[in-house]
Amino acid sequence: MGHVTVTLQRYVRTIQEFLSPQIANNPLINTDTWFQQDGASSHTARLRLECVQRKGPTCGMDFVSEKVSALSKLNITTMDAINWSDHKIRKHLRHEAFQTWTNHTLRGKGVIVCSDLPKANSWVSNRRGLSSSECTSALKMSSNISTVRAIPGRTLSTTRCRHPDCSELETLGHVLGQCPKGELLINARHHRVRHALVTSLKTLNWEIHEEVHCVSSDGSFRRADIIAINGRLKRALVLDPTIRFERNLNQATEVDVKKKSIYEPCLPYLSQKHNVPLKQWSSLKPKSKERKKERKKERKKERQKGRKKERKKARKKERKKERKKERKKERKKERKKKKEKF
Ligand SMILES: [Zn+2]
Repeated sequence: MGHVTVTLQRYVRTIQEFLSPQIANNPLINTDTWFQQDGASSHTARLRLECVQRKGPTCGMDFVSEKVSALSKLNITTMDAINWSDHKIRKHLRHEAFQTWTNHTLRGKGVIVCSDLPKANSWVSNRRGLSSSECTSALKMSSNISTVRAIPGRTLSTTRCRHPDCSELETLGHVLGQCPKGELLINARHHRVRHALVTSLKTLNWEIHEEVHCVSSDGSFRRADIIAINGRLKRALVLDPTIRFERNLNQATEVDVKKKSIYEPCLPYLSQKHNVPLKQWSSLKPKSKERKKERKKERKKERQKGRKKERKKARKKERKKERKKERKKERKKERKKKKEKF
């Protein structure tokens, strides 16, 4: 026996010549009997659908209603399925799955933040830079099902931290960010992030000071992780990176408010120390008004430069044409003179 390719014609013939007589003659087949197919192209072609639907009512094969019910389970109407492209249907299904995930109270904790920065979460699909086990751990942490005691069903005893010097609730957030057991690892991670920030700011020509001692207006001492000054942009920043277990979309704002309350009273001292006017200390907004204005100016200049180049090119071309014309005229004149001489 060799392999046979099931073309549409062969499939329809099998239904008509083999299946139909079998259905008609078999006493065990009645209106409760189901005939199920998968999504192979020969199964879904129009000719096949017509053929099966003609047979349908006799043996309970209502494919249209089956299709509608399957689509309704995916929250897609029949009209949507017809009008939408494959890409749009896939996007819709992905969005629906994401919404279901975020609605889980425990396993969906912090998942809503994933959509905020797709670039940082691209590891979920491309797994770049992660070993197989690291990827499994990362997925477990993202869906909050890592084996920590605070997850229901993980322990029969206490939900408190298993480290002897710690009595906090053993949540993933606690283990990753606060527990004294991982203090060295937590510090090392913080320093890595700080280093990455510093190197990228340095490449953008910012003046950087690390671990800066500062004094608050009430006389208390603080230590800022990074002070970044840019004379060209007339901007200065106090940066204090913090790595938190992500819970909700408001978290970034909450942390920002907290950090501001710590470092804003130090700004007069820092202004004096680094000789930067007080108004230049701005909070980290993605694009300040001044920066926007500067970018506009830069773009204008670039456009003008481009136009100048184009004008130069056009002038060169015109000159060339004029020279050619002149040469042609001269040659004509010479030929005329020669003819006259003869
Ligand atoms: Zn602990």
